Amino acid sequence: MKTFNYKNQELLCDGVPVAQLAQQYGTPLYVYSEQALTDAYHHYSKSFKQTNPLICYAVKANGNLSILKHFAALGSGFDIVSGGELERVLAANGKAQKTIFSGVGKTHEEIAFALEQNILCFNVESINELDRIQQVALQKGIKAPISLRINPDVDAQTHPYISTGLKENKFGIAYKDALNAYLYAQTLSQLNIIGIDCHIGSQLLQVEPLIEAFNRLILLIDKLSEHGIHLHHIDMGGGLGIPYHHQETKPDIEKYAQAIESTITHKNLQLILEPGRSLVGNAGILLTQIEFIKKTEDKNFIIVDAAMNDLMRPSLYQAFHEIIPVIDNKEVPPITADIVGPICESGDFLGKDRTLSVQEQDYLAIKSAGAYASSMASNYNTRPKAAEVLITKNNQARLIRKRETLFQLLENEQTCL
Ligand SMILES: *Cc1c(COP(=O)(O)O)cnc(C)c1O
Repeated sequence: MKTFNYKNQELLCDGVPVAQLAQQYGTPLYVYSEQALTDAYHHYSKSFKQTNPLICYAVKANGNLSILKHFAALGSGFDIVSGGELERVLAANGKAQKTIFSGVGKTHEEIAFALEQNILCFNVESINELDRIQQVALQKGIKAPISLRINPDVDAQTHPYISTGLKENKFGIAYKDALNAYLYAQTLSQLNIIGIDCHIGSQLLQVEPLIEAFNRLILLIDKLSEHGIHLHHIDMGGGLGIPYHHQETKPDIEKYAQAIESTITHKNLQLILEPGRSLVGNAGILLTQIEFIKKTEDKNFIIVDAAMNDLMRPSLYQAFHEIIPVIDNKEVPPITADIVGPICESGDFLGKDRTLSVQEQDYLAIKSAGAYASSMASNYNTRPKAAEVLITKNNQARLIRKRETLFQLLENEQTCL
């Protein structure tokens, strides 16, 4: 069954009418389906059944503790990019031993914390970071498990802001420098070299760039073993996309698996994947209420109570999200309008030129808001962060994050008066 569907013109999430949730918990409100999280996770494990990969959910896509807890219960590991995200994983009963630490700017404190917690691996992004990890590990008298993030220099064919695998961007170690970086890492006493990783970009709808990146890493792995460096795992990062538009199609995960699994088995490597968006993106919506419909000479505006601080993707990347009415009432004459928030920025829009049969006070659902929505939320314009609800597998609504209060928002400043 589809996660979000209409019944008697009412939008449901796993059978629960979302209008009721909007009334009970207020808007803006993120609503997620636990079943959709489970299905997305199993889609990976079933597609990659030959290699039994360690799936490390990328926490930055949506770090809500209940969502992390759900993935941990499914057996998932985690990909983190800060010490704060490690705290989240631990608070959600995730295993440090299944946690990978990525990111270009790890601080001394973050490295020390991750070492104390005995994480699975540091995905190292530069030579300077190798030196820093060596230094911290030496102080602690322990060994640090590391992998080098290699930039395979393939074109991910995605938006430039979310493409990370080309040589001109800040991520990873250049392909041509990879061998020397490994040889250098080998000279550092506290480093235990266990893997190689890459992450070429996000929202990839084609798997070919990933397969190309994989083949480039395999060439390197062969070269490294000629130099006596034998790796235990290959981590292909995340990046698989989701259809944001009903005309887009899902990337073919099975095809990806088929293209890489036999080589992995043959070379006796452990496969690690770090999916974020593809596990949560289409499991969530953002509910919002229409405040005003404003008609001007050139354009109409549907002004809603959600804004760019709740969903930054349209403003940040000109990203498209489908926006649908919560009650599908065709009797209302349709209006074509930009759907905008109340924030004082012209860039504060959620959708442009949409045609909807709606009136003031109606609720709208912004689709594909499970990933990079609540996790990118801010308090701009002193807007408290929205509440989050999870529909559990027995079709119960559970509040998994309370709406932030204005008191909480001002708290840290009040103490300074
Ligand atoms: C963001 C990120 C991911 C997850 O990317 P998705 O496109 O959400 O799958 C995985 N690995 C690293 C290193 C990342 O920075």
